[in-house]
Amino acid sequence: MRPYILLTPGPLTTSETVKSTMLEDWCTWDDEYNLDIVQHIRSELVGLATGSPDDYTSVLLQGSGTFAVEGALTCSVPEDGKLLVLANGAYGDRMAEIARYAKISHDVISFPETETVCPDMLDRFLGRHRDVTHVSFVHCETTTGILNPLEALCSIVKKHGKTLIVDAMSSFGGIPFDAGRLGIDLLVSSANKCIQGVPGFGFIIARKEALEKCKGNAASLSLDIYDQWETMEKKRGKWRFTSPTHVVRAFQQALKELHEEGGITARHARYKANHRILVEGMTRLGYAPLLPDEKQSPIITSFLYPDPSFCFETFYNRLKQKGFVIYPGKISQTDTFRIGTIGDVYERDFEALIKAVEETTASPRPSTKESGTELPR
Ligand SMILES: *Cc1c(COP(=O)(O)O)cnc(C)c1O
Repeated sequence: MRPYILLTPGPLTTSETVKSTMLEDWCTWDDEYNLDIVQHIRSELVGLATGSPDDYTSVLLQGSGTFAVEGALTCSVPEDGKLLVLANGAYGDRMAEIARYAKISHDVISFPETETVCPDMLDRFLGRHRDVTHVSFVHCETTTGILNPLEALCSIVKKHGKTLIVDAMSSFGGIPFDAGRLGIDLLVSSANKCIQGVPGFGFIIARKEALEKCKGNAASLSLDIYDQWETMEKKRGKWRFTSPTHVVRAFQQALKELHEEGGITARHARYKANHRILVEGMTRLGYAPLLPDEKQSPIITSFLYPDPSFCFETFYNRLKQKGFVIYPGKISQTDTFRIGTIGDVYERDFEALIKAVEETTASPRPSTKESGTELPR
């Protein structure tokens, strides 16, 4: 059933059992769907996000993760509000772009892609700019795999009394943290990252008070997370518009498998073990990671091209033939490629990958472009 495994940051490799749940069709006005699946998922998500579930709620939204980020930002910042975006990669930049599109008054503090967002700079900025009402940043910047200092950033935003929106798209479910303890107001993630579901919807886990304040702010009907939430609450699991039923059912199975694995802590340990085998093996073969260990997440790792003649297309295609799909780099200044360590993938898969990289790197080196190696981009 799988010609290759995806070592990408989503969509990612899912289990056979997650995939096979999608063979059944669901009716969206039936309790079997709304209560047993949607409502169940909504409360499970809150339980995964915080030890204080009474203060939090969740809302699911059709579309990819960006739709949910856009819903969260555009509905939470009111017309007279001001958003501060902290950016050290493409997904931080995207939040600023969302603000620009929506004509939300905003400031951006940009950091180099290989630097973490600096809490002291945030503190000084908020001290000087009292008009900021909302702050947003990315927890794990999937652009490079860098992990921003969540606790320190949250505590500064809270010290200044601002509303806090965290894009935890690629970390939620794979890295333990408590949104309630950190004071996160709106946390955004999606079905096809560390929960290991298939793509089709995103979700916002929010402090109830913060979500209630979103009422009337939306400039887009389909991205109105307040309206979507209100419908899900009042009509007990009903989506306003066609729900991605198969994807939602697969997600419920993915949540069950997360529990069976031992929850977020166990999953984090598996991702870390995957990451360690990957980095040790790649380093031994002459591929250096872009980031130092202390900034690196166990989610996805960027590697530098080993030499100027390195041909990523050839490397990519040879690995694909051996059953592994990796990811091009996304950063602007340096030539890199990325390998994800999340999904239904295990230490044995990374041991096999390293073996495949070793064979691929042996003669002839992947330096010239081989025919038929156009990247499917
Ligand atoms: C995947 C991801 C997103 C959402 O991307 P989509 O392509 O819209 O699913 C947003 N932020 C981060 C950090 C991500 O990793």
